[in-house]
Amino acid sequence: MKILVVNAGSSSLKYRLFDMDRGTVLAKGNCERIGIDGIITHTVTGSKEPYKATPVFPNHRTAIEYVLRLLTDKKFGCLGSVKEIAAVGHRFAHGGERLRASAELKEEEIAYLESIVPINPLHGPPAISGLKACREVMPDIPHVGVFDTSYYSDLPDYAYIYPIPYELYEKYRVRRYGFHGTSHRFVAGKAQELLGNKDAKIITCHLGNGSSITATVNGKAIDTSMGFTPQDGVPMGTRSGGIDPTVVTYLMKREQLTADGAEKLLNEKSGLLGVSGVSSDCRDIREAAAKGNLRAQLAMKLLAHNIKKIIGSYVAELNGVDALVFTAGIGENDRELRQEVCKDLDALGIAIDEEVNATCPRGEICELTAKGARARTFVIPTDEEYMIARDTLSIIQNRK
Ligand code: ADP
Repeated sequence: MKILVVNAGSSSLKYRLFDMDRGTVLAKGNCERIGIDGIITHTVTGSKEPYKATPVFPNHRTAIEYVLRLLTDKKFGCLGSVKEIAAVGHRFAHGGERLRASAELKEEEIAYLESIVPINPLHGPPAISGLKACREVMPDIPHVGVFDTSYYSDLPDYAYIYPIPYELYEKYRVRRYGFHGTSHRFVAGKAQELLGNKDAKIITCHLGNGSSITATVNGKAIDTSMGFTPQDGVPMGTRSGGIDPTVVTYLMKREQLTADGAEKLLNEKSGLLGVSGVSSDCRDIREAAAKGNLRAQLAMKLLAHNIKKIIGSYVAELNGVDALVFTAGIGENDRELRQEVCKDLDALGIAIDEEVNATCPRGEICELTAKGARARTFVIPTDEEYMIARDTLSIIQNRK
């Protein structure tokens, strides 16, 4: 059974074709600069060179049509016919309060996704446009939505309600939704397997360009650091993460910022970039810090400090922890940060082996636990696309 996973952004469409019988990736690629001009990079597993071209992509539909032609191309493809694709899994950041689990997307679900665009203005419209294009081009197969928010649909109300007038939640659905759920679900599931314990208390740190931390017990998330939007929680590449909300209103007054201006400040100019003044990319900041740049050093210390604080609060919420997991670009690659975060956490049962942490191979699951530590610590590479393909498969199998 072959499943195509699609992740549509405002000017991009990433795709990955899975052979679910073998659990392998057959091909993957990315269409970029949609609506501007167009670039496609496409790789069939096992081929030496990726295919690169610059076709014109006025919209998502032309991009997906191009992808399907490539997938069935004699030279650059891997399918005899488009009919071999059994279903398409679509990545959605937001499923609102109603789409609480991965689901087949038909007219009713699409109308709901359109109705929640006001709370999901950045990710919603391009993802819906990508879905509609795929449905037009592949009308005879199921299209399944997998939502980052759905992992948080069982958060207790005291974890998702904000302490503002309750009527505002009722009126505007302002609440904690949480994001990156597909990644947290994947790595928490792997940690459960490694521990051999379905009831395990697990804290997962997805640290990438955007970062979030989630507490899971019995396979369910009970709290997460991102909130109404991905803005809350730990500092990120360019996002501030959680700050005293009055800082925003004060700066709006002092700097004569509009609401959009304030959002831009918090979303695009803050976080590691804002503090370091160097870059939003951890590698650049590490390099500057190593050369003695004090603000770059401060940015990395502040990041580790904030991650540590959230881990501590989740150990309290879970009343213990069995596993701590690091994933995504920074979590999987930045050894110094893992070391800094795990330093002096032995009171919580967490301690890592410095040498193993320093030599942990890239792209593989690696256990960092120090001898005698109560909780186990892992690096687990995330695979959101595979999770989307797995959900899509399970939905179409249960449909029949
Ligand atoms: P996204 O959220 O866009 O998917 P990623 O998960 O790819 O982001 O993470 C991007 C971040 O990972 C960047 O800050 C990048 O600097 C960091 N990163 C990638 N490789 C390394 C590395 N070897 N050392 C430190 N940081 C790294």
